[in-house]
Amino acid sequence: LSVIGAVEPRIADAIRAELTDQRGSLKLIASENYASLPTLLTMGNWLSDKYAEGTIGHRFYAGCQNVDTVEATAAEHARELFGAEYAYAQPHSGIDANLTAFWAILAHRVEQPALAEQGAKNVNELDEGAWEALRKQFGDQRMLGMSLDAGGHLTHGFRPNISGKMFHQRSYGTNPQTQLVDYDEVARLAREFRPLVLIAGYSAYPRRIDFARMREIADEVGATFMVDMAHFAGLVAGKLFTGDEDPVPHAHVVTTTTHKSLRGPRGGLVLATEEYAPSVDRGCPLVLGGPLSNMMAAKAVALAEARSQAFRDYAHAVADNAQSFAESLIRRGATLVTGGTDNHLVLLDVSGLGLTGRQAESALLDAGIVTNRNAVPNDPNGAWYTSGVRLGTPALTSRGFGADEFDVTAEMIMDVLANTTPVTASTGKPGKAKYDLADGVAERTHARSAEL
Ligand code: PLP
Repeated sequence: LSVIGAVEPRIADAIRAELTDQRGSLKLIASENYASLPTLLTMGNWLSDKYAEGTIGHRFYAGCQNVDTVEATAAEHARELFGAEYAYAQPHSGIDANLTAFWAILAHRVEQPALAEQGAKNVNELDEGAWEALRKQFGDQRMLGMSLDAGGHLTHGFRPNISGKMFHQRSYGTNPQTQLVDYDEVARLAREFRPLVLIAGYSAYPRRIDFARMREIADEVGATFMVDMAHFAGLVAGKLFTGDEDPVPHAHVVTTTTHKSLRGPRGGLVLATEEYAPSVDRGCPLVLGGPLSNMMAAKAVALAEARSQAFRDYAHAVADNAQSFAESLIRRGATLVTGGTDNHLVLLDVSGLGLTGRQAESALLDAGIVTNRNAVPNDPNGAWYTSGVRLGTPALTSRGFGADEFDVTAEMIMDVLANTTPVTASTGKPGKAKYDLADGVAERTHARSAEL
């Protein structure tokens, strides 16, 4: 830090402050974790200085032999860890992984058949008429994914996102009574909408998915089945999700981040069947900029760690902790979406406490508990204020928390929320953002969390 501080002290200070903040609070954001020291150290080195557009053994720059080793090692660990036919380690983030996957599906399903029909090797060989016809065909394709308020991700066909503009899109939600995915309803929608891409995966759904059933639905309507396992990749890697709950044997394409439950560096990965592999492999430079070789190296280190028995134990502990955390919250009067969890996250509905998600998130942050507000199904407060708070166990499990520590954490959360009141806005109606936290509660909670 002194080396960094000599150049730009504000950055050294921000790094130090981040460490202090992370040490002084309870990290319950379901998509965050603590990467290991070997992973952290692998991110900052000379690999960062190398340009290596292209793919392993086929680069647009000279001198990429070390990047080839790095990328091949990351891909090998990913293939072995997940039992995938092919792995692509270049995406810079989860969204980039999804974009790479969408492009690869369009290339494989739309572009290649059109090229074959025209007897062309690539799009540059098409005459203007054929190229315009192909562009129109791209624009006609459809995507079916989980809706945002049911727990899906904005890249799964949410209109404001690029995915909602690349594809005609529809969403499946959850059953209003059970709040669970209703596979018969997904099948009905798929038959009606005939998507090119059926996506499963979520950011805020506290339950497991039956990927075998989803693949059956995709096959019935001729869709490519894509799974975005960004949130639960660690539980797949740790062999907690197996059989029908393991996406890799069932999906044509699987995308993930590497920094959430997988506990690696920030980044993305795409796994695919051999059929889709050549299209995914052309992600750089057709979708992605030059690879971040230092980050691919850190992915390789984290993926090597994820192949250990210690990581399997960790993944099981993440889910066990989520279960006991959910029970502890319910015992103290909490309302949870779907009534509980069987993955790594719980979604707390705070509307019964008279709060918006935004108020609850802010009050908890004041008390040193870092969470994020999140919509609940059919949320009357929308995606900004929301009625829920998402809580996840991956990060605190990395810190060694077990059922007892999560029980104390549940007690602190319910104590803070019970002592939070919404502040009435100037309109006379309760404001959706402002809140009062009763005197002494923040100090009390900070002191208790320090004991953990
Ligand atoms: N997919 C899912 C399901 C996610 O939850 C997220 C992150 O929130 C992403 C993709 C995007 O990941 P990133 O922020 O690395 O682009």
